[in-house]
Amino acid sequence: TDQPLHSPQRQPDDPDAALRPKSLTEFIGQEAARDNLRVFVEAARGRGEAMDHVLFFGPPGLGKTTLAQIVAKELGVGFRATSGPVIAKAGDLAALLTNLEPNDVLFIDEIHRLNPVVEEVLYPAMEDRALDIIIGEGPSARSVRIDLPPFTLVGATTRQGLLTTPLRDRFGIPVRLIFYTEAELTEVVNRGARLLGVAMAPEGAREIARRSRGTPRVAGRLLRRVRDFAQVRGAGEVTAAVADEALTRLEIDALGLDAMDRRYLTMIADIYKGGPVGVETLAAGLAEPRDTVEEVIEPFLIQLGLVARTARGRCLNDAAWTHLGLPPPSGSQT
Ligand code: ADP
Repeated sequence: TDQPLHSPQRQPDDPDAALRPKSLTEFIGQEAARDNLRVFVEAARGRGEAMDHVLFFGPPGLGKTTLAQIVAKELGVGFRATSGPVIAKAGDLAALLTNLEPNDVLFIDEIHRLNPVVEEVLYPAMEDRALDIIIGEGPSARSVRIDLPPFTLVGATTRQGLLTTPLRDRFGIPVRLIFYTEAELTEVVNRGARLLGVAMAPEGAREIARRSRGTPRVAGRLLRRVRDFAQVRGAGEVTAAVADEALTRLEIDALGLDAMDRRYLTMIADIYKGGPVGVETLAAGLAEPRDTVEEVIEPFLIQLGLVARTARGRCLNDAAWTHLGLPPPSGSQT
């Protein structure tokens, strides 16, 4: 793909799959989510039943897929994975569901992008463990109900609000994932360095963590790039100076913003005098899909307090002007 190396979005041959934690204990951060999951997993295991359906929501790269795999592993059941846009027809979903073993986990990434016809099939499957199949056509058509094995649906999406209400209501366990703290990402980086056999100075790990956009997937990617750099340029050890030099070359600034983040901020500053400006306009100007702007670029900028989403559009806060090294326009409202 043409996505930058440090993009939080998944890439086709995901190299960071090797760094995935394999148990809830090994999983760093997201303590509230982990504590809840531990209870539900234990309870379902104890009863020998399928766990209730789980919905993970939060920005890309925070560990939704990883947690789904961990849940299946800790439940001691099979794991099947697919994604919303891949399931083209109702029959595709029916085939997946009828092939599950009892209590299996079926993971559907980007579940908000399910075709509405397919989504209809999911409702009775989730609620009554049944498929309603229409046989025949026209006046002789009739509906036949097929029972399914008990299963746990684990859905993942960037924002809970992207799901239709009937789908959202059918998840018993909604789990929100949040951006990681610098301390948590430092742990993620140190763990990754150990697994990859990289000599890592404590300050080097902290520097990478600080610039990872609150996202473990980004931390893993930056770690690889910094490792290459340390190997070629330095004595092999990743010090703060080596990390800083490598990340600066990758155009990742002190706050962890990449070139796209800065293009977004600069566009609002230069062309729209700090806003408000509508997201459609920004997406067109950046030549990025609106979804990418809303689900990938903006959440972290909002978390940092650089940008505000208002009813009239996006506005830069003072911190953004400071970060860009520009004076805020007089009469700015932030
Ligand atoms: P999502 O499904 O939310 O996009 P993933 O579960 O695919 O995110 O996680 C992306 C990558 O980040 C994983 O391959 C894994 O290497 C790493 N990762 C995610 N969460 C953690 C964590 N808590 N600790 C360590 N590494 C993590």
